[in-house]
Amino acid sequence: MNRLALHWQILIGMIVGAAIGITLNVSKGTREHSVSTDELPSGLSSLEFADSPSLIRISYQRDDGSPIVEIVIDGTRKTEGALTTVEQLKEHDKDAARWFHQYGRSPARRVGDASKRLGGLFLRLLRMVAVPLIVTSLLTGVTGLGHAGRLGKMFGRTLTYYLATSMIAITIGVFMVNVVRPGLQDNVAPAKNVVTDADQTLGELLFAQLETMIPSNPFAALADSSFLSIISFTLAFGIFAVIVGGRTLEIIREFFDAAFDVMMALTMAIIKLAPFGVLFLMTYVTATQGPAVFKSLFWYMLTVLLALGCHALIVLPAILHFIAKKNPLHFAQAMSPALLTAFSSASSNGTLPLTMACVEKRAGVSNRVSSFVLPLGATINMDGTALYEAVAVLFISQMYHGAVLPLDQQIVVALTALLASVGAAGIPHAGLVMMVIILQAVNLPVEMQGIILAVDRVLDMCRTSVNVWSDSCGCAVVARLEARGSAGSVEGKPSIEGEV
Ligand code: ASP
Repeated sequence: MNRLALHWQILIGMIVGAAIGITLNVSKGTREHSVSTDELPSGLSSLEFADSPSLIRISYQRDDGSPIVEIVIDGTRKTEGALTTVEQLKEHDKDAARWFHQYGRSPARRVGDASKRLGGLFLRLLRMVAVPLIVTSLLTGVTGLGHAGRLGKMFGRTLTYYLATSMIAITIGVFMVNVVRPGLQDNVAPAKNVVTDADQTLGELLFAQLETMIPSNPFAALADSSFLSIISFTLAFGIFAVIVGGRTLEIIREFFDAAFDVMMALTMAIIKLAPFGVLFLMTYVTATQGPAVFKSLFWYMLTVLLALGCHALIVLPAILHFIAKKNPLHFAQAMSPALLTAFSSASSNGTLPLTMACVEKRAGVSNRVSSFVLPLGATINMDGTALYEAVAVLFISQMYHGAVLPLDQQIVVALTALLASVGAAGIPHAGLVMMVIILQAVNLPVEMQGIILAVDRVLDMCRTSVNVWSDSCGCAVVARLEARGSAGSVEGKPSIEGEV
């Protein structure tokens, strides 16, 4: 039997989840309940609840005659002095949270909460593979460079291209998300509630990131899933393995290549569960929040797509035209098989053999350049992913805080997005896994990812095409610079008078 392609399965999961959730939300999303005397928890003389998708009211009175306590949770942030999430209730009043859980929830919220836990299992699986996947993917990319002689000028040029284009992509993303404000489209509340890391200056924040990048104990960093520390140590380890070279490099490369294959297989198996993960998370989001959530998702998708479009259709072609001196249209045509495969597979790694073939056979770039630039690029150069990470986290922060993040925090998001994209493996949904780093960096709850999971596949397809497109353009740029720079050097041999 022919199985439906994964992205269709995910789409179906999303639609079914949303349909269940919305039906529940509309028909069983409201509940008013007054707990009868014989059911009252001990120590209380009254306990009442009113649960609706946007507003929860809890009131209780203790039997010692103290005044009635009233707690309001308003997700729209329109009620002055109200809490905004049920999670906050737990910190605010533990007993009330327990009673609400036991007696007060509407049927829609009950199903929603159960779905959240089930969908949470899928998110846990993703987080489970994140660390080993990053380590093995990065090491495979870096050690795949071969002997230290190849780490010359080309390395510097390639890296400069990677960093420059990723930063431009992120800047476009940050600009777009500030203009469109997708997370605030539904939210007319004035700016408030933005939790910044109490008066830390940007310098301090960045310095703290720098400190994180130098883990005092790399093993502790692994155990703590401190991604930033892991990425920087792994990169250093890989680069020095290449410098040491010889048999050592061979052993390390073989081992990590094998480990990467296993991790990749495991991740692909987990990704197969995505339709269920999406179904449960969609049910959770729509059952508890109702159809309104789509309005924000629409603006979010529009923001990501506009920003990706700007980068892929304006910035990269301009670089091709002015630096690589190539006709962007012809180059895109030559790359089209790779770009379309990237789109449908959502995996830069999966597309890599095809990308190499297109760059060499159809676009006429030498193997010397492509075999160096592309494998490394598939792992560490992800413009689309970097842009997407920044937009997604800023969108989540807008939803969560009901306001735009202050500039210094946005810069932290941008820089961490760059590192996250470097660390992301070239496989479907890797960007989603890496987003945890950025959420951690600006103190946002990881669970908020549930909101964007539903539309992740569609955006993954688009950002992966942009990733592959940027790698291919990088090949053309580096080939052009190499040809200019090494005019006179022996053809076929890389220039080795390098920076590394
Ligand atoms: N799927 C992307 C890629 O392979 C990575 C991501 O999830 O952003 O390039």
